[in-house]
Amino acid sequence: MRPETMSGQGVSEDMGASNQRIKVHIRCRRCGETFILRGVRDAKGHIETGFKRCLCDNEDDFDIEPLH
Ligand SMILES: [Zn+2]
Repeated sequence: MRPETMSGQGVSEDMGASNQRIKVHIRCRRCGETFILRGVRDAKGHIETGFKRCLCDNEDDFDIEPLH
């Protein structure tokens, strides 16, 4: 029993009902740049896109809107 065997991050595509793939429109409030990313909405309604920051170094001032 070696705990490090658990460390792989490659959790494969799990078609569980809890995660929902959606497109997300992100607009930077500082420079107006827009991004369309694919995100996953989890059971709590939080949207995870992996988006980190805009080209202008803005990391937290965005309009985020799910697309349908
Ligand atoms: Zn920006």
